[in-house]
Amino acid sequence: MSVHELSIARNIVEIVSQVAMEEKSPRVSVIHLQIGALSCVVPSALEFAFEVASQGTPTEGARLQMECMPVVVHCDSCETEVALESPQSFRCPRCAQPTPTLVSGRELEISRVELEEEPICAHG
Ligand SMILES: [Zn+2]
Repeated sequence: MSVHELSIARNIVEIVSQVAMEEKSPRVSVIHLQIGALSCVVPSALEFAFEVASQGTPTEGARLQMECMPVVVHCDSCETEVALESPQSFRCPRCAQPTPTLVSGRELEISRVELEEEPICAHG
């Protein structure tokens, strides 16, 4: 297991557990993540690390819904922001000029958390 993914997973568990506590929810069902193409996160490794890190917390058993975000750069020639087709080449897809100005692509964000409601007592 990579230390990178494990530290990210611990971070996610910490933040989301806090959200669950504030909302007084006993359990988290789905965690939506936005992962930049340059974040160097391996989804399967992150899932495994999350399984380990979430044990004994309200996030245990939650599903990770990962959305891959494109690399966006600013092209000085076109004077606009463009999404790269491949993170391997930092060239504007429109004019083929090198585009070293990264706008986004490194982020790893929790975009949404789905919580389970408190079970309603059936008696009475
Ligand atoms: Zn351009």
